[in-house]
Amino acid sequence: MSSDISWMKKGLKKRPVGEWFSEKHKSTSSSSSRSVVPKASENPTRLDYGKLSEEDRNIPKYKTKPVIFKEFDATSNYENAGSNMVVMTTQPSRGFDDALKDNPDGWTECLILAPSKTQILNTPGFPQPLRRPPTKPYEVRQLPGRGKGVIALQDINAGDLIIVERPLVISLSGLAIDIHFDPDVTVTEAQKKQAVMREYARMVETLVSRMDPELKAQFMDLANSHEHDGSGPLFGRIRTNGFSVSFVKDNLNKGIDDRVRYSAVGNDISRVNHSCCPNSGYSFHRASFGMELRATRKISKGEEVTCSYIANDWATTAERQKALEPYDFVCTCPACSDPENDSVRSFFQKQPSDALPLDETLKFISTVEGQSMEISSMYDWLLNHAIKMYAKDGDKEKEKEFKEKLFKNQLVKCGGENAPLIKTVDLGNDVKLHFFAV
Ligand SMILES: [Zn+2]
Repeated sequence: MSSDISWMKKGLKKRPVGEWFSEKHKSTSSSSSRSVVPKASENPTRLDYGKLSEEDRNIPKYKTKPVIFKEFDATSNYENAGSNMVVMTTQPSRGFDDALKDNPDGWTECLILAPSKTQILNTPGFPQPLRRPPTKPYEVRQLPGRGKGVIALQDINAGDLIIVERPLVISLSGLAIDIHFDPDVTVTEAQKKQAVMREYARMVETLVSRMDPELKAQFMDLANSHEHDGSGPLFGRIRTNGFSVSFVKDNLNKGIDDRVRYSAVGNDISRVNHSCCPNSGYSFHRASFGMELRATRKISKGEEVTCSYIANDWATTAERQKALEPYDFVCTCPACSDPENDSVRSFFQKQPSDALPLDETLKFISTVEGQSMEISSMYDWLLNHAIKMYAKDGDKEKEKEFKEKLFKNQLVKCGGENAPLIKTVDLGNDVKLHFFAV
């Protein structure tokens, strides 16, 4: 348990977003061991979901390049490793005698690139204890028609921590594997993706087999909305429950912050249901290796805690329902239930002009709050715009009020990675928004 398994894989590719893979394969003649890691702006092919046909599930015979396993000490720092070395590691490091009852924060099984591990180990203070709230402000409950969900046990204020936990698993959110079919056989795109998923699922199998039995039981108890698409029971759970987290991909010591995305799966945080009007937001705190969910607005005792599973904040109802399809449920949140909602939200798809007057700005802010969309970057822009105008008018009190609002909202979105920077913000001066760019 105190060891790492690492492997080099020729032609390994990394995909930037969970659930996304490319069906492209490198040619068999390639002898390079350098991986080609696409930029976040590249648009890889989406993995299939739903019920696949018998034909697409039936994968013709293929060959893959063998994976070479090596064992290292878990504290190994891969300063000089190539960016294509994949590492299977338990973080924070776990000794043979370490039991969960003495280490309630637990451990994370990671399938990550070597430079990402270096970044984790070099994080100042790592591994700190989790930054849990003084009392646990929620409980996981069975909800009628919604499966399990998270309910607030007390009033929770904007910016406050709700759930803090170590991921059970952190895994590469995409990966292309050299797969070679017989050139005489016709292979469908769906079949190619099936083969990639099957190979990836094998890696996840090794990852999960390393887990502490109790943590593994938590993982296996999570929902799987990918039972009929070839994901398999383990990768299916990662696809269903993963939250995005990014670490560096390469050039850590050269000052180039080139990031690669991973999928982090927690236990209680995986029970938080989706809403297009969410009341919480998620960030990752590297020093404590913690997933942190904070309130984006006041949540009342007894209210369900929700977060958004989708990236496009101001998409139409139809677009949001489409983006939610892989999760296998139909959203019935207030926005999805209101036929007039698209016309309200479409207004925010465009950035307003810098000349937007204060009264209009305040109107927009209250509309965003009415939509429970504090999680959107538009909200930050509007708050910052109002702050600037209050400052120009010399209205110190209002300026401070809106800075506090912005500060809390930034804490929700970036409280993890950028917490020390946030603490340096002096609410009496200009809020340095560029600190918070993500
Ligand atoms: Zn909805």
